[in-house]
Order: sequence, then C-alpha cells, then structure tokens
Amino acid sequence: MTLHAQHPPTSPMAPFDLVIFGGTGDLAMRKLLPALLHRHVDGQIGPDSRIYGIARDERTDEAYRERVRDAVAPLAAADPRIAACLDEFLGLLHYRRLDLGSEAGWPEFAAELGDTPGRVRVFYLAVGPSLFANVADRLDGVGLAGGGTRVVVEKPIGKDGASAQVINEALGRVFHESQVYRIDHYLGKETVQNLTALRFGNALFEPLWKAEHIDHVQITVAETVGVEGRAAYYDKSGALRDMVQNHLLQLLCLVAMEPPASLAADAIRDEKLKVLRALRPIDGGNAGQLTVRGQYRAGAVGGQAVPGYLDELGAASNTETFVAIKAEVQNWRWAGVPFYLRTGKRLAQRMSEIVVTFRRVPHSIFGDPNDGHSSPLAPNKLVIRLQPDEGVKLWLMNKVPGPGGMRMREVAMDLSFAETFGGRQPDAYERLLMDVVRGNPMLFMRRDEVDAAWQWIDPIRAAWEAAHDAPKAYTAGGWGPSAAVALIERDGRTWHEDGY
Ligand code: NAP
Repeated sequence: MTLHAQHPPTSPMAPFDLVIFGGTGDLAMRKLLPALLHRHVDGQIGPDSRIYGIARDERTDEAYRERVRDAVAPLAAADPRIAACLDEFLGLLHYRRLDLGSEAGWPEFAAELGDTPGRVRVFYLAVGPSLFANVADRLDGVGLAGGGTRVVVEKPIGKDGASAQVINEALGRVFHESQVYRIDHYLGKETVQNLTALRFGNALFEPLWKAEHIDHVQITVAETVGVEGRAAYYDKSGALRDMVQNHLLQLLCLVAMEPPASLAADAIRDEKLKVLRALRPIDGGNAGQLTVRGQYRAGAVGGQAVPGYLDELGAASNTETFVAIKAEVQNWRWAGVPFYLRTGKRLAQRMSEIVVTFRRVPHSIFGDPNDGHSSPLAPNKLVIRLQPDEGVKLWLMNKVPGPGGMRMREVAMDLSFAETFGGRQPDAYERLLMDVVRGNPMLFMRRDEVDAAWQWIDPIRAAWEAAHDAPKAYTAGGWGPSAAVALIERDGRTWHEDGY
C-alpha cells in the first residue's frame, strides 16, 4: 500500500547544552553523535546549542571533532545533505577532560557551562552505572543539578532489584524523578510507537484485543552477533537481565496495557506498571515448566563459522545467551493467553518482532482440510516488525483467484513504513534525545516500572541458580535449544516462521 504520506516537518529546539559523559565511547560514537547529526541536518539543532564530550584523556576540541568526523564519515559519504552540514555540526562540539570518579575539575566545568536561566541542560550518562552516584553528587555540588537539568541513564540499571534501588536512590537524592530519563531505545522505535497508534487510533483492533479473540502473543528479539570482545561484561549479565528485564517486558507492556486516558507520560506509564504487576510470578515452583535458558556452541551464522560462547569467554560459565519464557498477564483481559518471549545471541537471523495471533474461526464453511481439496484456515496474525524492515503486516485468509473452487490462502496486508512514508527511518535515539530536550518522558521508564520489572525477573534468576543445572546447549546459527521449541509446541502452537 503506497500512500506517499510525508513526514511532518520537525520543529527547531530552543538552544540547549548536552553533555555526554563517556563522549568517546562506543555508544556516543555509534549512536548518540550520529543521531544528533541527523537532527542537526533536519534543522532541529541550531547554532547556539552546545554538545560536550567528556572522558579522561587529554584532547583538544579540534581532535575530538576529527574523531567524530571519522565516526560519521560513512553517513556523510552516503548523503550529500549530511556532508554539506557536517562542519557546522562539528562546530557545536566541545571536549573536556574530567575523571567522573574524582572531585577534581568540576567547578571549572560548571563555570564553563555557565548558568543561562531557562536553558535546558542534559547530562547523558554514557558510562557504567558505578559512576552514576558520583556524577550525581558532583553535579549537585557545583550547582548543575537544578530545575533546567535532565539526566539520561542507559541500561543496565542494576543487575537485580537491590542494585537498581541503589542506583535509583543515588539519582533520587539529587534529582527529582521528573528530571531522570531512563532510556530503553526499543521504545523510541517507530514501529513500537505505531503499535500504540494502531491499537488506539483505529476502532478495528481494540474490541478484539483480549483473551476472547487473541490466542497468544509472541515477542522475539533475535541477534546474530555473539559476545565478541564483551564476553567478560556479558558473562555478569546474561540474556534475562540484558534483554528481557527491559526490552521484552516493555514491549509486552505496550501490547497488554489497558487504553490510557491520554498520551500523557504518566497515563501510559501507569498502565504499563499495572501489566508488570499482573505478570504471573515465576519461581522455583514453575520455572522448570515456563522458562528455557540456553548457551550457544560453535556453529555457523550466515555461512561463517563462529566459536561457542565458552570459547569466546575462555572459562566455564552457566550464563545464558538465550532465554524463552511463557509469561501470563493475570487480569480479565488476558487470562489464559500465553505471551511467549524469546531472545538470544547467535541465532539464525537478526530480527525483532511481535506476533499477535488471533483465534481460529469457530467453524470453517470451506470444507474439511483433510479431504484433499480444501485448505486449512490459518488464524489471522498481526505482525509488528521492529527490525530489520520496520513495518506491520496483517495476515488474512483470501480466496486464491481464478476458477477451481474456493481455495483459500493466507495473504499479508502490508503496512511497510519504507514504502508508505518513504525516506529514511530515523533511529530511535534521534527521537529519544529530542524528547529529553523537549522534556517529554513518555518513552522513558519510570522508577517504579524498573522496580516492578526486577521484581518479576529476580525470582526467575533465583530459581535458575537454585536448580544448579547448566543452560541447554544450542548450535550457533539456529533458533535456540530444542527445549524452546518444545515450550511452545507443548501447547499446540509454533514459533512464527519468518513469513514476514
Ligand atoms: P565504552 O565504549 O567503554 O565507553 C565508555 C566511555 O566512558 C569512554 O568515553 C570512556 O573514556 C568514558 N569513561 C570511562 N570511565 C570514565 C571516568 N572515570 N571518567 C570519565 N570518563 C570515563 O562504553 P559504551 O559501550 O559506550 O557504554 C557506555 C554505557 O552505556 C555502559 O554502561 C553500557 O552498558 C551502556 N550501553 C551501551 C550501549 C552501546 O551500544 N554501546 C547500549 C546500551 C547501553 P575514557 O576511558 O577515555 O575515560
């Protein structure tokens, strides 16, 4: 379907200061600075805004700008608009040396930033969480934590409920909750927001959006990459904490939440919180039936031989690189509807999607599929694809054209974004960064959401630890351990094949 709809024009931001603590790191170079560049090219960031990169090395503004120029060179090479604006963008960048673990240098940095009344100041903590408390205290100590300040924090917010509390307490001692923006970049993805638009902007779906009409929901976040150079870091985390606690649960919340009264940030976050609190607890009593954890062995991904997780780590480990969970939201809307979640590394394909499978028609008038002439009626499915190829497809049964009786086939109604709206799909960080500057926390996690998510996750971890068994092995390049297939097939269902 091609509508040739246009992206609405973006409105310019009032001048602001954005400080990236960890301004030379992977996140800054690969995500934040390219996102800011795109927003600048689209006219949203004017010449009076300032962007500071902070790290411990000594380097000049000029050296920092050249480093950023190298990092974004592929973007500039691919788009003449970017190439034309690049020098102007680099002119907004500054670099300051500051050890975030120490007390030195903060007064000078505060003096340089100055205090222009009404000017928004954003501090992006693109550093490990062990530095958060000191950064918050130092900002407070030099008078940079006041009303116009917003702080952005990335995952991981803790490794369990208790450590998340420590981080949130440290931030909460200095900042009001409304100043804290906890990023889950999945929420900034266009399709994720489109899920809310589809559900609440159309009369079609919402009456069907309940146990009476929905058979089950699948949420898959599959990666082809392994842990590469980050094995030591990843080994302390694992798929449950790294992906399920934040991304998958947030997606589940958006599918399952009740209609909020408005788009106000707290209206939506209140509804998401209720979903998290309604999740059926999983603990030592039922983790064996409702969860599967796996760890990849050597195999081949995309035709390339890849080593196993333990070879990459160089040590023994029970950390899971794959997890599948049968979750349930215990409320009137969803009673009895399973939400199958799965995520893993070194899987067959990089793909994130939500599949809502409706119930079958109660009676087929098209004959018996076993008689050799009729086809079975597949249930309708709404497939929300987050990556790659963001888009939405609605699978419906149709008659195969031509003579030869009523032969039925599943056909997808395609709402592909690229085709419908044309142009480049902005990265999630572009929207999220501008939302912080604008002061719109709708797509960020509130503290009680983080706490509630950990409250559901912690007993699963505890059950796994108490069971003392190793994760199930799976070959790199497949779809995880066979136990994950059994988890859903036991219920007479199958994981959605890539028919997207
Ligand atoms: P990284 O590549 O290791 O970069 C860390 C940055 O922090 C560097 O600029 C480093 O510079 C700086 N830094 C470290 N200690 C410092 C200190 N004491 N004082 C001042 N600067 C310091 O890490 P990253 O991948 O960018 O990740 C940063 C944080 O974001 C981590 O908590 C990570 O879990 C999280 N995150 C990252 C991604 C991603 O895509 N990379 C995604 C989600 C979340 P110097 O060492 O030169 O000081």
